[in-house]
Amino acid sequence: MLYTPVLVLNKFFFPIDTTNVKRAFLMLYGGAAKAVDINYETFDFDSWSQITSIKNQDCIRTVSKVIKIPRVIMVVRYDKVPSKEVKFNRYNIFKRDKSQCQYCGLSFPKNELTIDHITPKSLGGKTIWSNVVCCCTRCNRKKGSKNLGFSSMKLINKPTKPTWKLFSNLYIKTIKFKEWKPFLSFVEASYWNVELEE
Ligand SMILES: [Zn+2]
Repeated sequence: MLYTPVLVLNKFFFPIDTTNVKRAFLMLYGGAAKAVDINYETFDFDSWSQITSIKNQDCIRTVSKVIKIPRVIMVVRYDKVPSKEVKFNRYNIFKRDKSQCQYCGLSFPKNELTIDHITPKSLGGKTIWSNVVCCCTRCNRKKGSKNLGFSSMKLINKPTKPTWKLFSNLYIKTIKFKEWKPFLSFVEASYWNVELEE
């Protein structure tokens, strides 16, 4: 029970991470986090531990009291949660480029897109944020293994490392507790449902 997941929100009620019950209690007890209920009401440890009439499976028993398990907590100060880097993977490249070919500007389903190296690997191009873009198969074929400068093609955006740092690695397959629901609806459904690919 101590290791069941707890949703972590930032102070704007935006989901940023998950932790477990044990760590959530430590953060709550130490004042680093507040418990959040489905009505967006926040509780410090004392007010939370005064909540009574709890179902058995939803609480932890200490020597002196019974405490409700928080399913959602909010970090009081953001620096209590280590910030995570955006993972460099296909999913995040597609997300950055909005599944839009960066040469012709058209949008495609993910399976009709590929990753293009602006400076081809064969010419020493690196696999880094600034050298890869989403590309449709037609443009990919047209560009071939040429350097961008030697093709007649232009990029519609200059590729950079994404700046959506806070929640990009939060990946939730299933909504484990009904208490999570109000907070996850902040984010478009597809965001949660697409598998991450390495
Ligand atoms: Zn294209």
